[in-house]
Formats: sequence, structure tokens, C-alpha cells
Amino acid sequence: MTTPPWLEEGSNHIWLPYSQMKTAPAPLAVSSTFGATITLSDGRELLDGIASWWTACHGYNHPHVMQAMKHQIDVMPHIMFGGLNHEPALKLAKRLANMLPGDLNRVFFVDSGSVSVEVSMKMAIQYWINKGVKGRSKFVSFKDGYHGDTLGCMSIADPEEGMHHVFNDVLLDQFVIDIPRSPTQLKAFDAFLKEHKHEIAGVITEPLVQGAGGMKFFGPDILRNMCETTQNNDMLFIVDEIFTGFGRTGSMFAIEQADIIPDIICLSKALTAGTMPMACAVAQDHIFDAFLSDDFDFALQHGPTYMANPLACAAANASLDLFETEPRLEQVKHINRKLKNALTPMQSIKGVRNVRTLGAIGVVQVWDMKDVNWLKNRFVEEGIWVRPFRDIIYLTPAFTITDDEMDKLTGALARVMNEWSKL
Ligand code: PMP
Repeated sequence: MTTPPWLEEGSNHIWLPYSQMKTAPAPLAVSSTFGATITLSDGRELLDGIASWWTACHGYNHPHVMQAMKHQIDVMPHIMFGGLNHEPALKLAKRLANMLPGDLNRVFFVDSGSVSVEVSMKMAIQYWINKGVKGRSKFVSFKDGYHGDTLGCMSIADPEEGMHHVFNDVLLDQFVIDIPRSPTQLKAFDAFLKEHKHEIAGVITEPLVQGAGGMKFFGPDILRNMCETTQNNDMLFIVDEIFTGFGRTGSMFAIEQADIIPDIICLSKALTAGTMPMACAVAQDHIFDAFLSDDFDFALQHGPTYMANPLACAAANASLDLFETEPRLEQVKHINRKLKNALTPMQSIKGVRNVRTLGAIGVVQVWDMKDVNWLKNRFVEEGIWVRPFRDIIYLTPAFTITDDEMDKLTGALARVMNEWSKL
């Protein structure tokens, strides 16, 4: 297999994500994508089981999204958002507000998921300041949670389990607690909020699935109880739907399954269908109203250079068209059945601890990953792209993946896991 010159020449100048650069195996060289297939520069094809960190929900290079982006690139790939607005952004904001429940009506666009979480935290802190309430600047978040890699986001992640523990000494002090699952735990959660009310701005969680924390699931009832208890205590409830948003858990947004209306919701990843970096924090009217004043200090002090990038907004609008015109949630249901059928038998493989599915998410959790690089290599040899991490091997395919592709993906996964059990 030949290494393309750009990989050889550029490798000494690149710093890769979450990688120990001394020992990390060389990444694969990709030349193109289409549908659920990644083509490598040496001609090999990989069937993608994770849709580029679950962004490419309609598959790669969907013609409708491509066409919208090509049109936008000719018209206006970017324009600053300070003092200037444009149709793709305002159309998208209106569509998102119409899709979200209650009066989640104000969309603040940013350029990455982490930054949308930072903005939601700033909104919550400044909300209390604007209301003249002092000292409410801390957040309650949950063990196994993950919200991004910037400093504020790291401070609300699980300090023990997360990948950020080396920063523990410098991070903002927050309350990272257990998800209240039982009635007794919920009572304790309520008591905790009451005790610390004077210092808490809000409670933040990923809904139904804690993704990077190990694809841990919790039910809609638990989410509803968390939200109700938080809001009954006059605190803001922030939901990070960066992973779960846009159909991944079986409903357009995970919050729908719990029938809740958070004060702020963060969206990203599948927002632009795996094409452009963009995210947003969407606030309820009562949050937005607290920033209205004749005093400029009441304004939200944030404004990324590439905020509401028109090309990204065009991609997002095209993605929403597809959710309206194609049966995406039906496809998620179908994928769930396929995942259940294929993964459940893997429960009996020696070394497998748990198998679980939710929407278009399939998880095989093991007791001990043993040799993660062996697994990664075997998956590639089998022609599939799957990235095990911590103690899980997971699938989050494009919703448009075909039955044949699903069978190939899960068949290869089962073969490799059976070999793995004999290591
Ligand atoms: N929150 C959640 C739940 C995520 O899954 C991620 C990304 N994996 C983020 C926040 C951070 O998003 P980004 O990588 O775009 O900054």
C-alpha cells in the first residue's frame, strides 16, 4: 500500500486529535466519500459505521445538500454577522425555532459544539447577573458527561472518567454529581439544588445518551424528573443535544421523548449533515428577554468571526429539507431493529459485558478492550470504519445506510469480535 506524498510530507507538521503523537499509529489517507463509503487514497473502500462522529446523517455528499452548498458558494460563502444578516441564517433560525418545543425561539449561531455549550453557560450566568441576582455562576452536571474540550466545557465534564483529568487543578469549580435515577436519588438531587441554590446558575446534561462518556443511556422519565426538579427550583435547565439532536435517538430531538422544554438547548454535529462546522445555542424567550435593556452591559457578550456562516446555514437548511421530505425517523426505527437483531447475539461472546441500542445507536460494551489497535486494524482489514474507545465499540451509521451495508457492517463486526474474544 503506497503512502501519498502529501501524507508523508505533511505528517511532521500536523497535530492530531486526542492522540499521543509519539505512539499514535499513522492515520489512514482518505481521498473521497460518498453515501456510507469512505474511499482511501490507495483505492480501498471502508463502510462507515460512525458517519464521521455521527454528523453525516444523510450519508456523505448527499446531492440535495451538495447542490445547496454549491449554489451558496457562488452567491456568498461568508459574510460577517455583526450588523449584517442573510437569508440562509434567518431562515434556518426560524425553522429551528418552529421545530423545537415551547418558546425555544432565539437561536445564537456559533462554529462548534463546544462553543455552543460555552455560550449556553455564559447565557445562564449573565441571565442571573442581568436579573440582579448575585453569585449564581456555578453549574450542576453529571458523572460520565461530556460537553466539549474548551475550558468551560471541561469543567462540567466528569472529572474522573473524562479525558480532561490532567486539567482538573485549573478548571472552574462545578458540581459534577450522579444522575438521579431512583426516587431516593431524585429527592437527594432536589435537596442538593435547594442547599446550593444561591450559587447555581443551571443544570446541564446530555439527554438520554452520554456519548463520549461511554454511550451510557438513561430513560426519558429520568430526564423529565431532572428537568422538572431543576426548573421547580428556579434554575435553568440546559440540554446538550449535540450528539442526540436530529433523529439519532429515534425522535427529532431527545427532549421530545421526555416531553420537556429546557431553558437552553445546544445543537451541532448533524445540524449541517456532516459538511460544515456549525452549532447553536437556542434559548427560551424568557432568557432572551433578560438581556433586553437600555444598558449595553446587559447584552450577550459573544460573537464568533464565522458566526452563522452562510455556507453552513445553506447546508443545514438543505439537511432540514431532507428530514421533511425523506422518511428519516422511519429509517432510524428500521436501523434500530437491524442493530438489535445483529448485536444482541454478541452478548454471548466471551468478554462482552453489555449490548444496547437506542435509535440509530448500537453499542457493544466489553469488560476489557485488551488491544484497541488490534481491533481498529482488524475492522479496517474487514473494510469497515469503526472506532472503539474506552470500553465500547459503537455504531452510529448514516440514516440512509442500506440493508446490505448494515449487514456487511454488523457481519464484519461480529466476525472481528469473535476473533477478539480469543485473544
Ligand atoms: N457535547 C457533546 C454531547 C458532544 O458529543 C460533543 C462532540 N463530541 C461536543 C459537545 C463538542 O462538540 P465539538 O467537538 O463540535 O466542539
